[in-house]
Amino acid sequence: IFAAVEMAPRDPILGLNESFNADTRSTKVNLGVGVYFDDNGKIPLLAAVKAAEEARLKAAPPRGYQPIEGSPAYNQAVQNLLLGKDSALIANGQVITAQALGGTGALKIGADYLKRLSPNAKVYISDPSWENHRALFESAGFVVENYPYYDAATRGVNFAGMKACLNSLEAGSIIILHACCHNPTGADLSDAQWQEVVDVCRARGLVPFLDMAYQGFADGIDADAVAVRAFSASGLQFFVSSSFSKSFSLYGERVGALSVITASKEEAGRVLSQVKRVIRTNYSNPPIHGGALVAAVLSSPELRQMWETELAGMRDRIRAMRTGLVEAIKAQGVAQDFSFVVQQRGMFSYTGLTAAQVERMKDEFGIYAVSTGRICLAALNTKNLEYVAKAIAAVTKA
Ligand code: PMP
Repeated sequence: IFAAVEMAPRDPILGLNESFNADTRSTKVNLGVGVYFDDNGKIPLLAAVKAAEEARLKAAPPRGYQPIEGSPAYNQAVQNLLLGKDSALIANGQVITAQALGGTGALKIGADYLKRLSPNAKVYISDPSWENHRALFESAGFVVENYPYYDAATRGVNFAGMKACLNSLEAGSIIILHACCHNPTGADLSDAQWQEVVDVCRARGLVPFLDMAYQGFADGIDADAVAVRAFSASGLQFFVSSSFSKSFSLYGERVGALSVITASKEEAGRVLSQVKRVIRTNYSNPPIHGGALVAAVLSSPELRQMWETELAGMRDRIRAMRTGLVEAIKAQGVAQDFSFVVQQRGMFSYTGLTAAQVERMKDEFGIYAVSTGRICLAALNTKNLEYVAKAIAAVTKA
């Protein structure tokens, strides 16, 4: 049965990792993958997570099945982070949350549920977007199209283009929005623009799906929830996928959640019953460990404080790398202005480096980046910053 099976294309970013791992140069740097590394180039194990894990190990709880939608304590904690703990929507029982296998798993459950709910709707993602958005929604059976987003000339958002496109869509269209720290561009909407997006969604009857993969990586937990809060204040119904891969440095534990904001408690009950059906036929119920750690950290005032400090530390280090890179490139005598890198938010920067320049960085310096020119600032550190700046200078000057 496998004789005619074709080789599937390599994932562009995971493929990059394979080439990086095979590179024997000791100075090599991987700016491709979206993972936060500390100044020593290591993925941190947060102290708050370690403390929660040690307490759990000591308590040695049994490992029965979780409910289909996962841990109630975890799901409650997710809602509080997204909507604020005093949210009237939470108090009214209008919000449902299901623990999911990372942000990807949350998007997948949401996509499968939406396909049952609105089989003929079209899905719109930003141009460009995280490459898995298209694949996830296409594999759920949707036609996926782009709305204008990045403006290479201003290195910001083409908001007029985005808004005009959203205004032209059919009612019921599903709009995937990066809630903060846009991947791959680092260009986010302003608070006022978010309000305009909310108004367009209301006027056109669109279905917003906010992807929140980096809460706390731009300005802070509440500040980064501005889009979610604008939608929650609007009275609209919408979807949110959350990921704790980055904010808790729990990548491989697969900790995420799908939340759906409905019109009433009664509606929420019906929606949850359908989301549970999707989960049951995918993987039955989520794993315990990662979600339990996040719930333990978020429900303990001491551990939560510790986590917030560590999260701020990651955020500040990325910012310092942004400033440091811009200065180091300038110090190399590069005339081109890279100061936009400081304005971009989250882990990534669209540097404007061409595919050919990215290729040269790899060949001549062993520095790996995505061919679109996206680099991960969280892979820079005080030891490799100078080297990367030199490489950027070399490929942009000549
Ligand atoms: N959405 C976006 C925009 C992302 O950048 C990522 C991770 N790179 C995800 C979702 C998926 O997160 P997870 O690793 O938790 O599945």
